[in-house]
Amino acid sequence: MQFRTRAIHVGNQRCPETGAVVPPIHLASTFVQPGAGEWGEFDYSRSGNPTRKALETTLASLEGGCAALCFASGMAATHCAVAMLSSGDHVVAGSDIYGGTYRLLHQVTNRAGINVTLADSTDLAKLEAAITPATKLVWIESPGNPRMTITDIAACAEIAHRHGALLGVDSTFATPALTRPLELGADIVMHSATKYLGGHSDLMGGALVVREQSLYDELYFVQNATGAIMGALDAFLCSRGIKTLELRVREQCQTAQRLAEWLAENDQVERVLYPGLADHPGHDVASRQMDGAFGAMLTFELKGDYAMAQRFVESTELFQLAVSLGAVESLIEQPASMSHASYAAEDRAKHGITDGMIRLSVGLEAYEDLQADLERAFAAR
Ligand SMILES: *Cc1c(COP(=O)(O)O)cnc(C)c1O
Repeated sequence: MQFRTRAIHVGNQRCPETGAVVPPIHLASTFVQPGAGEWGEFDYSRSGNPTRKALETTLASLEGGCAALCFASGMAATHCAVAMLSSGDHVVAGSDIYGGTYRLLHQVTNRAGINVTLADSTDLAKLEAAITPATKLVWIESPGNPRMTITDIAACAEIAHRHGALLGVDSTFATPALTRPLELGADIVMHSATKYLGGHSDLMGGALVVREQSLYDELYFVQNATGAIMGALDAFLCSRGIKTLELRVREQCQTAQRLAEWLAENDQVERVLYPGLADHPGHDVASRQMDGAFGAMLTFELKGDYAMAQRFVESTELFQLAVSLGAVESLIEQPASMSHASYAAEDRAKHGITDGMIRLSVGLEAYEDLQADLERAFAAR
């Protein structure tokens, strides 16, 4: 079956009792056991829940994995992957990783003796140089935030495996509709389901998908032991969102590509960072690694200062001023004052995050309306 057919049918069996086309939402926290010391498929909803299981089955199919685990948030999913390591183990992470992942690795899991080194994952020699004999996990993100940096997943998998480490990929921006890291050699795929998988800004969730049963068993143990599972109502909403994932993402990518090309022609714009433009440093790798489209996130730099960019992001109406991304509603933000405000000014400079930078999450509204909204902001600045 094709991707979009699986998104609708795998995991979503009709209810055998009632014939309901949509499976019921299982809110029960506990399940009657066949006997004392005998276990059915489900016993307690932290350990397993039919509604969560349905979503995990769909996700495993879409990513081409053997199994998936769903969590209360994207950060809970990432935490589980790192919490499987032990004191003295080392993680090499891309320097463009999500801010919450940066904080987790530097202020939480470091307390358990798990060390971290950041390296520019778009430069494979630098990534490899950061690996030590203690490195157990390489963690990358593609496209990266906010410069839409593209990391060569297949090459990173080869490097990680040559050094006996696992490769984890935060694939939140790409979604399985565009990139399937497990097929490229990665061991773990992570998603903030809060973003494109849910797709409607109405749930929090995260997921890990793996290729091998033994890795699933280890992660399942940690998830069940720490308990940050996705609730049944959120799992239901996410399953509902995923049915239209490919259609949403493809349409949003088309609009993002058109906006990127239009912005690149605007003389008030310093530059546009979008992997679908031929001048983007990651364009060639993205063309190989992404499935015919380049994502619906784009960043551009306005000519002018911090205050001008601030005025710009406050002047749009359809593009709502908010962090997060990936939903049907378009969002706009200024990384320097919002998503990356916790960076010190010199760290922002080091990461190429300028004051005039503006990040768009392109939604499902009509292209013409979104362009008109940005035109208003250009006139107001
Ligand atoms: C949002 C996000 C996360 C964290 O997910 P939450 O659901 O907010 O916990 C991780 N990685 C990326 C790339 C994200 O955009």
